[in-house]
Amino acid sequence: MSNVTPMMAQYLEIKEAHKDALLFYRMGDFYEMFFDDAIAAAEALDIALTKRGKHLGEDIPMCGVPVHAAEGYFLTLIRKGFRVAVCEQMEDPSEAKKRGSKSVVRREVVRLVTPGTLTEESLLEARRHNFLCAWAEVRDQGALAWVDISTGEFHIMPLAPLRLGPELARLRPSEVLIADNDNAVDYGVEGTVQIIRETGASVTPLGRAAFDSASAEKRLCALFDVGSLEAFGQFSRPEISAMGAVVEYLEITQKGKLPLLRRPLREAEARVVQIDAATRRNLELTHAMSGGRAGSLLAAIDRTVTAAGARLLERRLSSPSRVLDVVHDRLQAIDFSFDHSRLSDDLRNALRKVPDLDRALSRLGLDRGGPRDLAAIRNGLDQAGQIADLLRDHDMPRLLATSAQYLVGHEDVLDLLDQALVAEPPLLARDGGFIAPGFDDELDEMRQLRDEGRGVIARMQQDYVQQTGITSLKIKHNNVLGYFVEVTATHADKMLSDPLSDTFKHRQTTANQVRFTTVPLSEMETKILNAGGRALEIEKRIFETLRRAILDRADRIGGASGALAEIDLATSLADLAHGENWCRPQVDNSRALKIAGGRHPVVEQALRKQGNTPFIANDCNLTAQDDAAAIWLLTGPNMAGKSTFLRQNALIALLAQMGSYVPATQAHIGMISQLFSRVGASDDLARGRSTFMVEMVETAAILNQADDRALVILDEIGRGTATYDGLSIAWATLEHLHDANKSRALFATHYHELTTLAGKLPGVENATVAVKEFEGDVIFLHEVRKGAADRSYGVQVAKLAGLPDAVVARARVVLDALEKGEREGGNKKKAIIDDLPLFSAVAAAPPPAPKQESKVEKRLSEIHPDELTPRQALDLLYELKEAA
Ligand code: ADP
Repeated sequence: MSNVTPMMAQYLEIKEAHKDALLFYRMGDFYEMFFDDAIAAAEALDIALTKRGKHLGEDIPMCGVPVHAAEGYFLTLIRKGFRVAVCEQMEDPSEAKKRGSKSVVRREVVRLVTPGTLTEESLLEARRHNFLCAWAEVRDQGALAWVDISTGEFHIMPLAPLRLGPELARLRPSEVLIADNDNAVDYGVEGTVQIIRETGASVTPLGRAAFDSASAEKRLCALFDVGSLEAFGQFSRPEISAMGAVVEYLEITQKGKLPLLRRPLREAEARVVQIDAATRRNLELTHAMSGGRAGSLLAAIDRTVTAAGARLLERRLSSPSRVLDVVHDRLQAIDFSFDHSRLSDDLRNALRKVPDLDRALSRLGLDRGGPRDLAAIRNGLDQAGQIADLLRDHDMPRLLATSAQYLVGHEDVLDLLDQALVAEPPLLARDGGFIAPGFDDELDEMRQLRDEGRGVIARMQQDYVQQTGITSLKIKHNNVLGYFVEVTATHADKMLSDPLSDTFKHRQTTANQVRFTTVPLSEMETKILNAGGRALEIEKRIFETLRRAILDRADRIGGASGALAEIDLATSLADLAHGENWCRPQVDNSRALKIAGGRHPVVEQALRKQGNTPFIANDCNLTAQDDAAAIWLLTGPNMAGKSTFLRQNALIALLAQMGSYVPATQAHIGMISQLFSRVGASDDLARGRSTFMVEMVETAAILNQADDRALVILDEIGRGTATYDGLSIAWATLEHLHDANKSRALFATHYHELTTLAGKLPGVENATVAVKEFEGDVIFLHEVRKGAADRSYGVQVAKLAGLPDAVVARARVVLDALEKGEREGGNKKKAIIDDLPLFSAVAAAPPPAPKQESKVEKRLSEIHPDELTPRQALDLLYELKEAA
């Protein structure tokens, strides 16, 4: 390192300690990156790569970004999977100079920016949580801990390794910590790392020490200032280990500054409906298939007006409850809002003014906050008080009554903040100007000096004129003397003798003038010069006092924030129920699933937006007797609305158990414990699985796990393979669901053969989505009725889809021929049936023949392809071509 500059030596040393991150090295107003970091960052950020000096004889690649724009770059890098180590200058460059010309400014990494540890408003989605998870496994026991450091929430859940995937699908964390070397752990098809990656989270391996449960316990006790973790409950080793890893990682990334974490809350799997990743995707609960929020159920039902309320809604929707009391409490909160719509509107108007208290609190906790965060707390608590006033004198249900208690009792902080802060403070504490006049005498004075320095000096001059009796006395300023008192030479004697010489110290005599300073004037000068800086210091000190005052009450303020979110959610769901005409579901522990006039909220809203036909409401009754299954076997043409019907019933059950009203005229939901869906078909190319393979893996998961409290939605099982294979699989699946799983299920199929099962299995009923035929076209009624569909109407649907007329006509002829062959029996059907799946022994009347048959069509209708030899077929083709 002998020929390395001191700065480069410092850089290399810091870089050595942060090998896995891009090092943002602060140099004045820029963060600079060097070597490979520079190459990677320049490419990822699309910024210019330059060079700076040489290292070991080679150019040093370099790139840089301005500090004021750094946040945007952080975000880009994080989205691209990088981590960033932010290295700041820890002293003023002038101080380094004092130590010697070769000294470099002291620098330290103050923070690691990683996907799971963001707190900046600009880096976070306001209406979504940003979870950091840690997964610990001790032998076969596992535990998942998660925090949102931007809000302080901290949760822990014991979890079997097999359940990791579904839980991560529920939480959608942005970063998951695992113990190093853990990637050898393998259960089923893939290892832990793969499971995590599939959820879209970034995986961060930590040394085993971070997961050590003994030191984890100490770390947690220290953090929460308790003697023993038992204060929060009994935790297993993996649980402690996972929580410890989270805390350790926060210490590493925040460089010792720990965010305000709430006490860890244990979540029990048994308390929420289990929904696997595929089902969440299929039902588009919080994200549409396209990936975004738009088009999801969440987007369709979100009428919350605060960010915390929106986050609460997403949490609830991701984790519908299985606990009856919980569901009832939430429903009663909505009942109350629903019945008091005037009050509800007032509450919502007040809530609109509530800022994001959680995130402000968390930034203040990490000492990354600014004056606006103080103001957010003030405004939020102020609104909380007003909301409490609105609710006063109302007889509220339990959830709201408990929430309301948290809204009051903040007067002390509120008064303090009210007095201390200006109405609309600036973003940064650095520039000052956020403390209100009249709050601190010294600050007022400083500002006065700073702003009115000249005025103060002018008043002093008047004082001195009076004191000396010299009316020509002036106070002046130059760079050498600073402020001074100047009189003409004629007054020199008077000034230089008693008693004035006590006050006025001689500094300089020029040809015509004599100049003096006084102690008060020097003091005033220093004050004026320093007033600006001093005012800033005072503001910073007050900022710190206010920050402390807030943090001392963090629990309570967090409570108020939670309560506001709860009220937001209840009133917004009531608003939704009013606006969309939803009904209150009856939820109990029975095994009913009886829905009258049910609708699919997303499809309904989409149809309305398009201004097309209205959504047709449908009934569903899957009420299971005793311990038997209750299954509807749904047939009907493509596009009739089978998938929509299947999903809408699942969504209604979930909404009810989330504690919401539902899109129906009446709904009776017996608690479901698990929800499974196998809907639609899509290749999973990333994993190298065909559509059929994906379908079978998902079906297997359902048949292996569903119990008599499960709700199962199966759409077009067996479609991805040859007809007889598919039919057999669908058949066996339906029987298994009925006999072994005994679940409530909706089963849509294009195999009409299955409809005969309804007669054989007591728990299976046929239903169909009705269509009408009109002049050769099919009209979808979207009405679900009891009974089996008669035909598939595939040709008519194909026509609707815009298949060329010739093809449609040809298809009709072929179909006609096939149906004729079918009616006449024989095994001709076998060879072709793979291509005509929706065709069965119970098929009814043939479609009406096209009105004007062409020569070709006529000839075609006469032939039976199966009876042709290849040679005859070729001849026929020539013949047809002639005729056309
Ligand atoms: P299938 O699964 O039978 O092929 P889908 O459920 O995908 O049919 O529905 C096809 C289209 O029909 C939907 O996109 C929607 O626009 C419309 N649709 C479905 N159900 C209804 C309904 N109940 N009322 C009105 N339109 C509906």
